[in-house]
Amino acid sequence: MSKETKTKAILEDYSAALMPTYAPSIVVSSGKGVTVRDADNMSFYDFTSGIGVHNTGHCHKKVVEAVQAQAAKLMHSSNIFANEPEVKLAKKLVGLSGLGGKVFFCNSGAEANEAAIKLARKWGSANGGRYEIVTMRRGFHGRTLATVAATAQAWCQEGYDPLPVGFAYADFNDIESVKAAVNEKTVAVMLECVQGEGGVTPATDEFIKGVRELCDEKNLLMICDEVQSGMGRTGDWFAWQGYGVKPDLFTLAKSLADGIPMGALVSNEKLADVFTLSAHASTFGGNPVAAAAANAVIAVIEEENLLENAKKTGDLFREALQGFADKYDKILEVRGRGMMLGMSVDCDPREVVDALRAQGILALTAGGGTVRFLPPLVLGEDDLEDAVEMMGEAFDSLWGE
Ligand SMILES: *Cc1c(COP(=O)(O)O)cnc(C)c1O
Repeated sequence: MSKETKTKAILEDYSAALMPTYAPSIVVSSGKGVTVRDADNMSFYDFTSGIGVHNTGHCHKKVVEAVQAQAAKLMHSSNIFANEPEVKLAKKLVGLSGLGGKVFFCNSGAEANEAAIKLARKWGSANGGRYEIVTMRRGFHGRTLATVAATAQAWCQEGYDPLPVGFAYADFNDIESVKAAVNEKTVAVMLECVQGEGGVTPATDEFIKGVRELCDEKNLLMICDEVQSGMGRTGDWFAWQGYGVKPDLFTLAKSLADGIPMGALVSNEKLADVFTLSAHASTFGGNPVAAAAANAVIAVIEEENLLENAKKTGDLFREALQGFADKYDKILEVRGRGMMLGMSVDCDPREVVDALRAQGILALTAGGGTVRFLPPLVLGEDDLEDAVEMMGEAFDSLWGE
């Protein structure tokens, strides 16, 4: 089969067999470190990391070995029985968080946030009969009915009425707006420290501190959605650590197990036993293969100093993007933390993503006219330099004289 036709043929079958919720134009066949290959053997820098999943890069040797070894030993235990990898992982996550609490495992970001919402309600029902959760406009929390209701964006909610009640919306980075949304029914404030889908917008220090103070004052739970920003993405294990506050609950998924589906809800000490026996469950939660992958991911992040690299290489990448912004009027602003970077553009961001892809770089869009970059945290300076050069050519092809 000739070049191009292989991708084309697969995508034709894709359209015929899969519901049209996505519109892929590439078939990814393999990945190694910071690159992927498509079905026609074209190579790309993957600055999407599979949407914030491959923090340790594609198919990291240690993660692959851990998955293979565990798959050969035990693939599933059910939660009637415990397994060792999940216990090791839970202890590690509690330790990294410093919250002194406990963990509930599940399979995705939406499911982790759903668990956070349920836990907050369960706690609220015993603490003043409260249930309402304040979330931020332009936030993103997932696609189940409750997490769609928590996501204050019309494009996520359209056509799905009636949505679960019990959510109120406030403006991100505007503490007065959060205060105004709180009433006697409010039980929690839930937010991303760096809004991902909404436009790669970091919270200000004052805002996060203000939310924590408000929660303390009104006896509310502070819930951080770390599904995209967690596991080192911003240069800290969890983005909230960069703000010097502690949430009561936070959620993880995307990068937790490097592509093996896994989500987690982590609590502080106060909330560790709110989910009592049978109060919540998930058949695959704490799956030993996923947990083994996550344990390997954490070991790799520690051994290869990836938090430090996310900060260092992230700063270099950011400087390069700022350089492009100084050169091209069409780039309006560069934002982000660590390896979670965005640039808002004065055009359709899809045009920019297409031009980058034509040069061999995969990037994402985000809300607010934003081009989003989530490179693997293993990205080195040489690859970054190479990619920046390719990016220059892409921008020249769009905006050069
Ligand atoms: C992706 C994402 C989710 C949803 O995760 P799924 O695994 O797709 O359910 C939730 N919150 C944030 C911040 C995300 O980026």
